[in-house]
Order: sequence, then structure tokens, then C-alpha cells
Amino acid sequence: MIYVHNTMGDKKEPFKPEKKGIVRMYVCGPTVYGPAHIGHARTYIAFDIIRRYLEWKGYNVKLVINITDVHDDMIARANELNTTIFELADKFIKKFFADMKALKVKEASVYPRVTQEIEPIIETIKILEEKGYAYETKDGVYYDISKFPEYGKLSGIKPSKSITGTRVETDRYDKRSVQDFALWKKAKPNEPFWESPWGEGRPGWHIECSVMSSKYLGLPIDIHGGAVDLIFPHHENEIAQSEAAYDVKPFVKYWLHTGFLVIEGQKMSKSLGNFITVPELLEKYDARVFRFFIATKHYRSRVDFAKDAMVHATNTLKRLDDFIQRLYEVEASGPCNVDAIISKAKKEFEQAMDDDFNAPLAWRAIFNLETEANRLMAANKLTKDASAKIIDFLKDINRIFDVFSFERKQAQLAEEDMRLIKLREKLRKEKRFAEADKIREQLKKKGIILIDTPEGTKWRLAQ
Ligand code: AMP
Ligand code: ZN
Repeated sequence: MIYVHNTMGDKKEPFKPEKKGIVRMYVCGPTVYGPAHIGHARTYIAFDIIRRYLEWKGYNVKLVINITDVHDDMIARANELNTTIFELADKFIKKFFADMKALKVKEASVYPRVTQEIEPIIETIKILEEKGYAYETKDGVYYDISKFPEYGKLSGIKPSKSITGTRVETDRYDKRSVQDFALWKKAKPNEPFWESPWGEGRPGWHIECSVMSSKYLGLPIDIHGGAVDLIFPHHENEIAQSEAAYDVKPFVKYWLHTGFLVIEGQKMSKSLGNFITVPELLEKYDARVFRFFIATKHYRSRVDFAKDAMVHATNTLKRLDDFIQRLYEVEASGPCNVDAIISKAKKEFEQAMDDDFNAPLAWRAIFNLETEANRLMAANKLTKDASAKIIDFLKDINRIFDVFSFERKQAQLAEEDMRLIKLREKLRKEKRFAEADKIREQLKKKGIILIDTPEGTKWRLAQ
């Protein structure tokens, strides 16, 4: 049984998806007006690992990630760059997909775009208006949070009385409370717009996620994710919209939030000059190293992207890569009961991941297996069959983390050494064994061990 920490109620709960064997998952996607940064990478890798773990457990996961391609910030950026939001979005959507691919984040099932979902968005706003949750003003349509008494149940942030209780005498076309949020924004001159019952305009930000999640996944959805910054107001508003419009409670069974990524202890921001885009990251580090760095953290923890931590991740992954290469080189045969060690590791791994995807603990199980295997290797007790089983286990785990390299590296020998190996093979065929043995000894002195197999002579470097 998997347990997940639900932000709603702030407690761990047994994970029981609505439909047996199927997980309907929605993760808030990027606003596409600039390159993806390593904070995005953190969140999407963390959810990628959660998604892959659920698949590893046998669930059929349907994942939706929305693309916010119309937004106030996008309009501002498009004006700055003398382009349209459509061109801006096309450019950065392509880059976003390329960045995610480079980071080995598996594709979502659907990536709906706001500008292609205007009709269902308008339909939902109409429902909210008909039910009395929304009102029109001179600049848009707003959600009246005083009509939704449960507002604040996710974040614990309740609307303050002074704001909702005493309504300031205003023009009836003004917003009623500062905390009411826009469902529809009427277009100002030179802004992109769509026709609607409230005139030309565009959707507010929050409504897209209510509409797209229900349209593509149905209701209720099992997992809704994003980083902690989205709990309030974005996810709080999503709940107010969906539960009021679609008569479903709760609209989301489990709210999961990733911790923020900071840089050397500081919030990442352009003004501090510590903003790192995904391409900039990948110029410096192998994508596997960053994935490993994130994979070894708890998804709920804050992540500090610091030089020391990245050096540590680089070295640890290198050590694991070398470990895999050494496993490939084991040639010994004979009895070696490695099954108990592997099943212990697998059990500990699974127990940790079942407990709210506790990756740091799950990795400990893998490191313990490495230590055990190294001990057997050092004592010359690890056999080829046992090594193969360990490699199979690591390959299985890698379906989730996707960090290991299983490419078998053949160290390069000098041309002269390769010539000697070939010559020795020829001598053996001619049954000139004494001369062949001399070559074997000569190479052994250089640390090259020859192994004669039915498929020919192989070599490895002495450890
Ligand atoms: P945005 O493009 O800012 O709307 O963000 C897209 C997704 O990335 C959302 O789920 C955010 O919560 C998440 N996100 C943004 N910045 C960070 C960060 N520094 N660390 C972790 N996640 C982030
Ligand atoms: Zn969202």
C-alpha cells in the first residue's frame, strides 16, 4: 500500500485512486514566455519519478500538464520583444519539450494549451455565473470567494473578515473584495482577445487548470501536483472553481507539492543574477547528474542547488557507474547466493518509496546493496551469474530514476597490445601453446588479463 502526504489536511493517507489500477494525475505546467529554469526541472523531474514509480507498481498513469500560453506576463514580454504571444509560445514550447527530453522527463499523455481551450473555459465561467459564484465588473468577471465558505481549506489562509464582511460601497462594476480573483479579463487596446458573453477578453490564470483537468482526466482527479508556491492562491482558487462549478467534492483526492529549488540558499531570481536555465545547467553538468541530484532528495524538501552538492552528486554517480562496469567484468563461477541480498534491497527500496516516495531512504537500500556486492567482489566471491542479477535489479530500479548508464565501456588497449592478443590467438590455433603463454604473461605484467572463451579471447584490466 502506498501512502502519500496530502497537502489537504496536511497528513499522510493511504493512496486509493478513484478507479482501480488507474491514476489520473495533473501537474501545473509552465508559462511559456522564457526558457525553463532549474526550478521547473526540479518539479518536473520529481513528478516524473512519482509517475514512473506508480507505473513500476503496475498503475496505468494518465498525466496531464497544461501549457499556459496566454498570461499577463506573456503579453508584456511579447510587447517588449515586438512579437505576439503566439510566436513567443511556439518558440518556448519547443524549447520546453527539448529541455524535458534532455532531462529524461517522460512525456505527459496530453499537454493542453489555454489558447486552444477557450470555449470550455467560457462554458465553466458561465456555469459559475449562473450559480451565483461569479460576477461581472467593468474590467472582467470575478469569482466571489465569499460564496464559497470552504475557501482556504487547502492553504489554511482564510479570507480576512474585514475584507469580505464589510463590503465597501462601490460602483457595482468594481471588484467586490480584494481577494476575489479574475475568471475573465476584458481586453485593453492592443491585447490579444477572444469573443465571450462578457465581450472581448481572455481567461484569468486559475480557471484553465480547473477546466483542463476535468476535461482531460474526468472528476475527481487522483493526484494534483505543483510546487509549494502554487498552494495559495492558485490551487485554492482551482478548488473554489471546480467544486462550485462541477458539483464534485473533493475535486482532487491527493494534493502533492514539491519543495522549492533555491540557489546557494537564495531564491532564484533574475535580479539576483543567480537564474539558471536548463540549457545553462546542461552546459556544465550531465543531465544524469542533475536527475540523480534531484532523485536522491525527497520531493517535498527544499533543494539547495550548491556547488558542493553537485560535486557530491557527480562523484557518487561516477562511483555507481564504475560499480556497474565492475559488475560486468566479473567472470567467476560457482555458488553465490545473492538473491537474499537483492530481495532485501528491493524490499527496503519499495517500503521507502511506498511511504510518500521517500527517495533518500530508497537510495540507502541501493547503496547498501552496493556495499554488500563490493564486499563479495573484494573476497572474489561474486560470480558472473550473481553480478548479472544485481545488474538486472539496477536496471529495474532505473525504470524509475533513469540515472544509470548501462552502456558497457570497453577500455581501449594500445594497438600493440591488441596486435599481441590477435597473435596469441593465431598461435593457439596453431597449437604453439608455449609461445601463446608467453604473450599471456607479458600482457599480465601490464595489467591485462586474458580470458579464453568459446567465442574467442576476451580481455579485462586487472583491478
Ligand atoms: P511557472 O512557469 O512559474 O508557472 O512554473 C511551472 C511549475 O514549476 C509550477 O509547478 C511551479 O510551482 C514550478 N516552479 C517554479 N519555480 C520553481 C522553483 N524554484 N522550484 C521548484 N519548482 C518551481
Ligand atoms: Zn495550475
